[in-house]
Amino acid sequence: MTKIKVENLKKSFGSLEVLKDLNVEIQEGEVVCIIGPSGSGKSTFLRCLNQLEDISGGKVTIDNNNLSDHSKNINKIRENIGMVFQHFNLFPHLTVLENITLAPKELKNQKEDEIKARALELLETVGLSEKANDYPNSLSGGQKQRVAIARALAMQPDIMLFDEPTSALDPEMVGDVLEVMQLLARQGMTMVVVTHEMGFAKEVADRVIFMDAGYIVEEGTPEELFNSPKNERTKDFLNKIL
Ligand code: ADP
Ligand code: MG
Repeated sequence: MTKIKVENLKKSFGSLEVLKDLNVEIQEGEVVCIIGPSGSGKSTFLRCLNQLEDISGGKVTIDNNNLSDHSKNINKIRENIGMVFQHFNLFPHLTVLENITLAPKELKNQKEDEIKARALELLETVGLSEKANDYPNSLSGGQKQRVAIARALAMQPDIMLFDEPTSALDPEMVGDVLEVMQLLARQGMTMVVVTHEMGFAKEVADRVIFMDAGYIVEEGTPEELFNSPKNERTKDFLNKIL
C-alpha cells in the first residue's frame, strides 16, 4: 500500500527554489534513507511531508489524503507522522515522562493512566526506564535523542520522519540511537530518514535516495546506490564521504 506519494513537489523560499519537481512514492513499512550534500533540500523535503512548510507546487498525499486539500483535517493527518530532529527540542522544564505524555494528554481522547503506562513502555523500549523522572539537562545527547523518539512514538504515529537524528551526538552515543531506529524499522514502521550514517542506510534502508540541489538525482536499493551509482554527482558525493 502506498503510504506517501509526492508528485511534482516544488518549494521555494522567495525567489530561492529549494525543491524542484520531486516525485517519490513510499510504501507502508518501507524505510527510505535520504542522503545528499548540505543545502540540497533534504530537511525542507521532510518538512513538506508533515506540513511544517506550505508547498509551492505539486502534491503530497499521505494515506490517500491530499495535504493541500483544506477540507481535510491536517492536524489529524499530522498526528500520524512523528518527527525527530537533530536537536532533540525537549522541554527543559518538564521531566522525561512529562515530555513524553504532554502531546497525548492534549488530545484528551485517552485516559491519563493509559497515557502514562504507554509512555513508560516506550521508555523501556528506548532503554531509559530509570530516567522517567529526570530532567533533560541531566541526560546525555544520545539519551535525549532516545527520549525524543519515545515522545514522537507516544502519539502512535504510523510514519516517522528523522532529520539527521545522530548528527549532533558524540560518536559513542550514535549506536544506541540507531539501534532504536532499527528496532522501529523491524516492527514495520514507515520511515524516512535523512542521515549521514551510511552503515545504517546500507543495513536498514529498503531504498536510498540521493538528493542534490533540490532534485532527486538517483535512487535505488542500498546495494545499487552504494555499490554501483550511475550518476556522476552521486559518485562524487559517495567518494567524498565513504
Ligand atoms: P539540507 O537539509 O539538505 O541541508 P535544507 O532543506 O535545510 O537543506 O535547505 C535547502 C536550502 O533552502 C538552503 O539553501 C537553505 O538555506 C534554504 N532554506 C531552508 N529553509 C529556509 C527558510 N525557512 N527560509 C529561507 N531559506 C531556507
Ligand atoms: Mg538538513
